[in-house]
Amino acid sequence: MRSISIFGATGSIGESAFDLLMGSGGPKTWRAVAVTGGRNVARLAEMARALHAEIAVIADEALLPDLRAALAGTGIEAAAGTQAIAETADRPADWTLSAIVGAAGLAPGLRVVERGGTLALANKESLVAAGRLLMATARRTGATILPVDSEHSAVFQCLDGDSLEVVERVTLTASGGAFRDWPLERLAQATVAEASSHPNWDMGQRITIDSASMFNKALEVIEAHEFFGLPGDRIEVLVHPESIIHALVSYVDGGTLAHLGPPDMRHAIGHALHWPRREKLPLARLDLAALGSLTFRAPCETRWPALALARQVIAQGGAAGAVLNAAKEQALDDFIAGRIRFTDMAGAVAHALDLAAGRPGFGTSPDSLEAVLEWDAQARRDAAAWQTAAA
Ligand code: NDP
Repeated sequence: MRSISIFGATGSIGESAFDLLMGSGGPKTWRAVAVTGGRNVARLAEMARALHAEIAVIADEALLPDLRAALAGTGIEAAAGTQAIAETADRPADWTLSAIVGAAGLAPGLRVVERGGTLALANKESLVAAGRLLMATARRTGATILPVDSEHSAVFQCLDGDSLEVVERVTLTASGGAFRDWPLERLAQATVAEASSHPNWDMGQRITIDSASMFNKALEVIEAHEFFGLPGDRIEVLVHPESIIHALVSYVDGGTLAHLGPPDMRHAIGHALHWPRREKLPLARLDLAALGSLTFRAPCETRWPALALARQVIAQGGAAGAVLNAAKEQALDDFIAGRIRFTDMAGAVAHALDLAAGRPGFGTSPDSLEAVLEWDAQARRDAAAWQTAAA
């Protein structure tokens, strides 16, 4: 029986994973070690009970009494706090899903890799902020990192072990998000509600807004660079409004392989869950005749300045990824809270990158979690101060 842990179980990716696990026998098939959540105690307790987990951990410490009450009589351990989440990652499990949103996912994911475990990585922020550290640690400990982000899972499946030497380029597709067809001059007035509605994918609010701004694709370009070790000029972005082709790999012989599937994250999660085998999944199949046509267009860098920032970060290397990730998270918080406009987010991130580039050590990749978090904290302060600096 394989043992599994889900970090970020109560989120959109966590729910999809839970659905797959329960649909394939639940506790009869899987031995659940840990499930974690941020604030949603009721759902976390429900999942822990359904999976017969050993431990449930909630990030918000104030919610520990509620979690204990919700698990009373089950024998399931309850814990709370960021430190408890990180420590829970040390508990051996054959397969761990990293699906916490944001930089908070880095510490537990890194600990799984440090103990040489298998990490199914949805939390792209880990690779953006600490790609070198994570990949070097995995090489040292023999840990396996499996991509769960749909584009990276698609590239991984197309590559099927091929050497990068025969790969000319990788193309990540992008739906274009909520504002793909909006007139450029309207973007500054975009509301949080408008940015939070995705045309194809049903995802958490933060990644949905990041899709509208293309910061999500910017993170993915950096993620592909870190995970596959491809230089930035061999990673392209293509707008594909239907979200059916998730990525393409073009080879030196002129051939291109594409990975297709309905826009449902359970495909990529299921692939990582059963890797290296393929298992039958109870999911919708693709019907190309019903779809009729697929369309593509080049991304407009005026509409989506985040893409140029991703290229800049890859060229800069060092701490640039940690800075971009944290500054983006701060800018997103500020947009959601109504402090800045949708179109201000890229300016705040660019500002934080400019300031960071002038600081000692910027050119060196952070080699510890603490070093990543130092750049992270400074970048958040810089991005938050951007409005004042810009005024
Ligand atoms: P959600 O916002 O839906 O869920 C996030 C999860 O993280 C929840 O379980 C939430 O808990 C928990 N959480 C939030 N803040 C903290 C914190 N500070 N400490 C610990 N746990 C916390 O996000 P998604 O599921 O959409 O995304 C998760 C990750 O997967 C992200 O990195 C995203 O980029 C990536 N991803 C998502 C895709 C998608 O389709 N959704 C596609 C590809 C990648 P609670 O809800 O209980 O507060």
